[in-house]
Amino acid sequence: MSEERPTPYRVERSRAGRVLGRAEALSRLSWLTAETWEAASRMFPVRVPRGWFDRSRPEADDALLRQAIPSPEELLPDGEGRVDPVGERSLKPHPWLVRKHDDRMLLLLTRRCHLYCRYCFRRNDHGGPEDPSREELDEALALARASGARELILSGGDPLAVRDDTLFRVLDAVRPEVPVVRIHTRAPITAPRRVTDELVRGLRERAPVWVLVHANHPRELTGDVVDALGRLVDAGLPVLNQSVLLAGVNDDVDVLAELSERLVELRVFPYYLHHTDAALGNAAFRVDAERGLALHDALARRVSGVALPRYVVDPPDGSGKIGVLQAVQDGILSRRS
Ligand code: SF4
Repeated sequence: MSEERPTPYRVERSRAGRVLGRAEALSRLSWLTAETWEAASRMFPVRVPRGWFDRSRPEADDALLRQAIPSPEELLPDGEGRVDPVGERSLKPHPWLVRKHDDRMLLLLTRRCHLYCRYCFRRNDHGGPEDPSREELDEALALARASGARELILSGGDPLAVRDDTLFRVLDAVRPEVPVVRIHTRAPITAPRRVTDELVRGLRERAPVWVLVHANHPRELTGDVVDALGRLVDAGLPVLNQSVLLAGVNDDVDVLAELSERLVELRVFPYYLHHTDAALGNAAFRVDAERGLALHDALARRVSGVALPRYVVDPPDGSGKIGVLQAVQDGILSRRS
């Protein structure tokens, strides 16, 4: 199903020393063109932390760069892509809240991220304000408190792109009505220095807080990332990982097995392997369900139960995540999509 592309997002300026600038990207990556960078940025911002670039290899097919540097494929017609591939837009009781289940509420705390992953399922959500206003956030928190939900999921964007005081205010505002908060963040992987002692202490003081991180490839787990994850786990915070199955990044059983086994060593539970949501512009990353199921079967034969993520899909009808095999059997997902 084809949908109209959303309003282009303004190109984000890099901050010297912290993110890769356009000029340096063009000079270091011979295969990248200014036209691709500019055109892709207008659809979905480009932001690559220095640390991410430094742990990458300069080839176009590098597993890390592929997730971060725009490619000409983003600009091609995408007949299967959707602006809202997981059906969230009709399930918003407030502009910054999503509710798919009675017991859970999802708060979009910001649209900002440390790294904008080119495959992101919310890549078409940009173009409006990056953050809720103070009044909007207070309204959303009041709704969450009164919702009867047992869990508040902080999402975005990356909820750790906001300051500690905002984050802690959110956690304090929903208690005791909402007892459990989950933070879905890629920051420990993409910006490990964000996991400061103050942040960890503040989260520990506000337990139960679950931290769901997002690593897709074992090369993302560099020493600084290992330290960041260790600080979270040592503080007693449950840490789980969600990966996305991505063509040219981790659609290989050896890579998936190494990622899972390494996460287990780091005391991070490999929770989900997501079927790539067909967001307008991310066609180059999609792996069809038939191949995804074969990879997951091969993974199940390789790794222990504790290292085996569930392979799940979030269908476009907004009904919420289910196993890919079940979705195929129920006719929700075609083997070829
Ligand atoms: S960090 Fe998460 S929300 Fe941000 S671009 Fe990556 S996948 Fe999307």
